[in-house]
Amino acid sequence: MQAPAIPEDEIERLAQLRALRILDSPIEARFERITRLARRTFDVPISAISLLDSDRQWFKSVAGLTICETSREVSFCGHALHSDEVMVVDDAGHDPRFADNPLVTGDPRIRFYAGCPVRGPAGARLGTLCLIDRKPRQMSGGDREALADFAKMVEAEFRLNLVCGAQDELLAELDRMRLRASIDPLTRLWNRGAMNEILRRELAAARGDGKGTGLVLVDLDHFKQINDSHGHAVGDEVLREAAARMLAAIRARDSLGRYGGEEFLAIVPEATPEDARTVAERLRAALAGEPLPTLSGPIGVTASLGVRWVEARDRRAADELLRPADAALYRAKRGGRNRVEIGDAQDAGSTSS
Ligand code: GH3
Ligand code: MG
Ligand code: MG
Repeated sequence: MQAPAIPEDEIERLAQLRALRILDSPIEARFERITRLARRTFDVPISAISLLDSDRQWFKSVAGLTICETSREVSFCGHALHSDEVMVVDDAGHDPRFADNPLVTGDPRIRFYAGCPVRGPAGARLGTLCLIDRKPRQMSGGDREALADFAKMVEAEFRLNLVCGAQDELLAELDRMRLRASIDPLTRLWNRGAMNEILRRELAAARGDGKGTGLVLVDLDHFKQINDSHGHAVGDEVLREAAARMLAAIRARDSLGRYGGEEFLAIVPEATPEDARTVAERLRAALAGEPLPTLSGPIGVTASLGVRWVEARDRRAADELLRPADAALYRAKRGGRNRVEIGDAQDAGSTSS
């Protein structure tokens, strides 16, 4: 196996990569969209946006694989990064650079690879947009051009820093270890601890600007049945797909996290009560639409949602503020599921299971 060479501009390149604050961050709908679309367009099982860090490649978005990083040594991306051309490996099994690469001899059993370098706003090549297949294949000139077009879309997203507010503060403040500890490894959304911190910060900001905040609790319906009928691994896939589906239904400014097993929390800053309800309805509809794709075939899922709108001047603690959303959620369950209920004053004093 041939390990990738280190680019000449490596120090500057890494500085530019770190400055973008896209490493170790939660998944973002705008990048998920590109890998999903690329996978479908080129009819490959795997597509990824790989960022080349000093010692590893880290996948900003990956469709078709559940790992989020590999060592730099074994990365195909490390090789593709050395030119502006699309690098195509028709059959890694017969390429001396890759034939004994563990990603070829073992999972995910790469045979075909095509990677187009992506440059950051300041010019350095940060990683690639790549396509992977488990069987050898060839790539036409037209497809290479199309992949380069997709890579330009990734670059356009790098130029827009859409993450803002409390999420951006956390990305800026936390070092790699603490950032990793803030993300749920299954869904790659913020975890409960991080969501509580984001909530605390958003509420403080809301007090400053006098705007309200929407809180939406989402609990998947009859999720235990999905595990029971299809197995835990498929249940995991459903959770991952449900997370991506919900993320695509909200704005970048809104935060989405995994709050418990099959429970999610969305925080909607600068919201009116109507905005909060609209977001909840959008999340409900996003899940209840097309069944989610899994290895066991498409699986339909719905969720029950509880909404709470918090006034800017409300100074209660986050868990107390969430209680009405929780109570509303259980009302949605009792009311037949796949529905949105709004927490009211009475819910503030109640508790639920
Ligand atoms: P309800 O409509 O009342 O919410 O029914 P439910 O079956 O969704 O609710 P319940 O709380 O009884 O079950 C939740 C299930 O979610 C049980 C638990 O095993 C499963 N679960 C929690 N975390 C995970 C996970 O990470 N992966 C998988 N596959 N299942 C999980
Ligand atoms: Mg639950
Ligand atoms: Mg449930």
